[in-house]
Amino acid sequence: MRQSELFTKTRKEAPKDETAKNAKLLIRSGFIHKEMAGAYAYLPLGYRVLQRICGIIRDEMNGIGGQELHLTSLQDKRVWEKTGRWSDEVIDNWFKTTLSAGGEVGLATTHEEPLTNLMTEFIHSYKDLPAYVYQFQTKFRNEKRAKSGIMRGREFLMKDLYSFSRSQEEHSAFYEEAKNAYIRIFDRAGIGERTFFTSASGGSFSPYSHEFQTLTDAGEDTIYLDRTRKIAVNDEIYSEDVLKDLGLLKDDLEKVTAVEVGNIFSLGTKFSDAFGLTYIDETNEKRPVIMGSYGIGPGRLMGAIVEVLGGKNEMIWPKEVAPFDLHLIQLSDDEQTKSEAEALYQKLTQLGVEVLWDDRAVSAGAKFADADLIGIPSRAVVSTKALEAGGVEFTDRIEDSVEVVASEVIINRYVTE
Ligand code: ATP
Ligand code: MG
Repeated sequence: MRQSELFTKTRKEAPKDETAKNAKLLIRSGFIHKEMAGAYAYLPLGYRVLQRICGIIRDEMNGIGGQELHLTSLQDKRVWEKTGRWSDEVIDNWFKTTLSAGGEVGLATTHEEPLTNLMTEFIHSYKDLPAYVYQFQTKFRNEKRAKSGIMRGREFLMKDLYSFSRSQEEHSAFYEEAKNAYIRIFDRAGIGERTFFTSASGGSFSPYSHEFQTLTDAGEDTIYLDRTRKIAVNDEIYSEDVLKDLGLLKDDLEKVTAVEVGNIFSLGTKFSDAFGLTYIDETNEKRPVIMGSYGIGPGRLMGAIVEVLGGKNEMIWPKEVAPFDLHLIQLSDDEQTKSEAEALYQKLTQLGVEVLWDDRAVSAGAKFADADLIGIPSRAVVSTKALEAGGVEFTDRIEDSVEVVASEVIINRYVTE
């Protein structure tokens, strides 16, 4: 894409009404737009990052047998009454409304109820199981505080997968696979080293649920981390008994602040019982389906990446989630520089490399300041100076290396990658 055609612009100043680093940087770089507290629009550059994050998640969910679908955000009160979760005392952050034709609906906070209800239509026999179903869906939650930028929206995207298994053993085996897929997702998203498997409250038929917590002061959670073993326990269940049960030693633990980027839950038969989701096994006996749920907030993950890797005036996106693969910066407007930049852009684009080509008629200083903010990890500068030195200046911002190389060398990099 030619940067001269990009409608968004960067800003010099951070917005005054934001305290979160992720929101400040992403608004300055033109990645997001604040509609109101807790509601952000994703602009072209930001949407590319979000889509790449979703791509990684989709890839890993398909890899463990997930089937993608798309449920509705409008939800029926009658379905939710079956578990008692329509009540504001049970879920305190519902957005609800009344239909003009009569009847109440809610905006999806989560999807266990409608999906379990839907699956009763398809699951009858052991032959129909296991089933792993997921979606990327907008959730609405009337969160009390919304000061963490895209890490806590009142409207936000969630990837939620639900597992339907025949037995506790089948469930546990999948739970382990999902855990490993999550580890791969956070690795690929560039924050694996700072993200820890954390025991938390709230499992049904298992004493714990598990969260993936990324270390950052911008987080709202407190966890106790065993760095050597790379596991943690959430403050909300921290006690002598729990530590003993998890085989953790108090002296090995560090109290740290983190943000929950994902979580996995054993749901047991809580939802299948409520909806009569059963199956007939090989011996003709009727059994309840064992369920699990597995969530990740792609927007929260994107915000966490910025919190961890962003600087005051710059960002360096991990390669797999960057809005573009390469930022091609054309520094002067003479014929030779222009045709060199254009040729490189054409060749790379033909190879499927996503290139943002800064072809704008602005100063070199403005170009570099914008490139720092936008955060594409690889940069190729075409200038008279570089051409005289025999090529193009290539910067790998992650490795922090700069070299002048022939444009073929850059092209070859992407052919072999
Ligand atoms: P928290 O305790 O931080 O509010 P949660 O326990 O409510 O999180 P879940 O309901 O399990 O979270 O949602 C699954 C995932 O969705 C979370 O791990 C997180 O990544 C994401 N998520 C939850 N709430 C929000 C939000 N308000 N904005 C953005 N992402 C969110
Ligand atoms: Mg919450």
